[in-house]
Amino acid sequence: MQTDEARFPLFALVRHRLTTDGQGVTTLAAAWGCPLRCRFCLNPQSWREETPVRRVTPQEFYDLVKIDDLYFQATGGGVTFGGGEPLTHAPFIRAVRALCGDRWRLCAETCLNIPSPLLDMAMECVDEFIVDIKDTNPEIYRRYTGADNARTLANIEALVQRVGPLRVVARVPLIPGYNTPADVEASVGKLRGLGVERFDTFTYRTTSEMAPT
Ligand code: SF4
Repeated sequence: MQTDEARFPLFALVRHRLTTDGQGVTTLAAAWGCPLRCRFCLNPQSWREETPVRRVTPQEFYDLVKIDDLYFQATGGGVTFGGGEPLTHAPFIRAVRALCGDRWRLCAETCLNIPSPLLDMAMECVDEFIVDIKDTNPEIYRRYTGADNARTLANIEALVQRVGPLRVVARVPLIPGYNTPADVEASVGKLRGLGVERFDTFTYRTTSEMAPT
């Protein structure tokens, strides 16, 4: 996956979200491109080649989003970068931070399966990290996402140590056909051992067509 330092591959911009990902009114900015291929991906347009993408500069993005500046400031909200994987574009997010200063709360929904220099940069400019862990068991993770999770676990440990546990939420889902409640419990225990204190545990809703492979 390529990193474009100047432009963000925006495929969706959703305004006026309320308390769905942190405090206040937020705008979701979704980045095209993801290093994972989760079996039950709810956002496959984030990696399909045919998805229409608008590649915006930080200034173009700021000009698009600032229409809600007053809402953000009044509610303590701001922009949530999601995707796909937004932290591949950490230089872009840092540039947006330079434009909005402290007025906007910047949040990232990330799988954290990214090179550590990008995470280092994100720590400088993102207020809250919502980390989609999937499962800490490497076999379950590989079966579900097609990727290795060693980097994810190293990154979340480094993240919590550097920014503190209050700025990090770990999402640990029960994934029908892939893990069990005992696996979720084991993941939460392992993550607690790495310093994580905030968790979001829930069950993926699946349909009969979404059979495990
Ligand atoms: S990390 Fe998210 S966007 Fe990427 S494949 Fe998994 S569910 Fe889809």
